[in-house]
Amino acid sequence: MAGTAHRVVIVGGGFAGLFAARGLRRAAVEVVLIDRTGFHLFQPLLYQVATGILSQGEIARPLREVLRRQRNARLLLGEVQDVDLVARTVTSSAFGAVTVTPYDTLMVATGATHSYFGNETFREHAPGLKTVDDALAIRARIYEAFERAESATDHAERCRHLTFVVVGGGPTGVEVAGQIAELSARSLRRNFRSIDPADARVVLLEAGPALLPAFGPVLSARARRDLEAVGVEVLLGARVTGIDATEVRYTADGQDVRMAATTKVWAAGVAASPLGGALATLAGAQAARGGRVEVAPDLTLPGHPEVFVLGDLASMPGVPGLAQAAIQAGRYAARVVAARVDGREPPAPFRYRDKGNLATIARLRAVVQTGRIRLVGPVAWAAWLGVHLVTLNGYRNRVTVTMHWAATFLAGARAERAATAVQARHAAAAPVPVLAAMEPSLAGGRR
Ligand SMILES: Cc1cc2nc3c(=O)[nH]c(=O)nc-3n(C[C@H](O)[C@H](O)[C@H](O)COP(=O)(O)OP(=O)(O)OC[C@H]3O[C@@H](n4cnc5c(N)ncnc54)[C@H](O)[C@@H]3O)c2cc1C
Repeated sequence: MAGTAHRVVIVGGGFAGLFAARGLRRAAVEVVLIDRTGFHLFQPLLYQVATGILSQGEIARPLREVLRRQRNARLLLGEVQDVDLVARTVTSSAFGAVTVTPYDTLMVATGATHSYFGNETFREHAPGLKTVDDALAIRARIYEAFERAESATDHAERCRHLTFVVVGGGPTGVEVAGQIAELSARSLRRNFRSIDPADARVVLLEAGPALLPAFGPVLSARARRDLEAVGVEVLLGARVTGIDATEVRYTADGQDVRMAATTKVWAAGVAASPLGGALATLAGAQAARGGRVEVAPDLTLPGHPEVFVLGDLASMPGVPGLAQAAIQAGRYAARVVAARVDGREPPAPFRYRDKGNLATIARLRAVVQTGRIRLVGPVAWAAWLGVHLVTLNGYRNRVTVTMHWAATFLAGARAERAATAVQARHAAAAPVPVLAAMEPSLAGGRR
């Protein structure tokens, strides 16, 4: 036992981890939430930070502030590197100091990261969008590309700087491509003297036969039409084979194509965070597709009822990698733990309640699917705005986001265009994989 009160250690302050912590606010437990950033990031609006609509502070709220009134919870800043399922401890580090935290119940909710499907060299030239740093780096690259085009004296070079390639036709790819098209056609109008930003070419490459496959064929076709209406070139069946500093190579219809482009964004692949595979190995459990951990019907690690795996890290049939699924999982795990601590019957196995899918394409254009209802156009867009405002964490953020949206969608203005040299460099630096740092200790700890 970790102490007198039952201690619940939650790793990851995203949707699953935070909602689990909040779900335990009235339970007779001590909650320790460990997160490597100390912020709850509202990932669905990251693309708006990447394209200059919102500032990072509006979508990343300090976990200390969120939990300030929850007396039974505290935040431990740190990156978890090791879990010992036998000693029931979690090892994390921050600022060079290592902390070992004992637990009675462990909830692991460290989310997902990008997958380049083994093509790690793509990472440097086509950053993905998962963190605030990613968004700021992409933003720096997008606006820098227009500056480079303005200074370019060679026509081919100018065209290359004005070509933006987004890889992946899921919601993130669609949203990023739509926003780059809008900012070049609207927001940057009359900002330059040598170039017309509206000449920018925005290309969305998707290897599969359709965009947004989860939305079904009707909405998928509509999303494509909407994107094309705002100037995005949509290329389906285009499989990327190479990416470097100056071009993207892909095959389509049996042809190899080379496209010169300075700015590339990767929105094609998702893999569970490295802690997932490591946990599965420790427990002798299955790692499912993308490194996710297959969980029991009550979201626990098979053979370890005291360990929950939640959100994007967990694999369960019929449960998608969406914020709503992570929230429901976090709340469910909190109910199970509260029942156990009180000696009550635990709730029935976890059941995901599908509340639908939303994706925005551009101003006044979105697609929404919920049950049998399908919405498109301005109505869907208004629904998208409303849902995101309601789910955004923090009253102050809702107010400022509303103001920024008004400025951007009514007048085309984007307030968040400043970039530091550090941000511009970030995306070029390939991050050190966490798993590599973890392996020796996990191998030693395997039982
Ligand atoms: C760009 C983008 C757009 C999206 N749009 C939508 C959308 O429109 N609708 C929707 O429903 N879903 C959307 N999603 C998916 C949604 O955001 C995820 O499904 C959801 O965030 C998963 O929640 P989670 O708690 O599992 O993980 P996350 O929210 O990713 O949280 C993981 C947390 O763990 C922390 N962490 C990771 N590793 C460690 C470690 N080793 N030690 C300590 N802390 C660690 C991280 O700092 C983070 O706080 C989007 C995702 C992205 C990236």
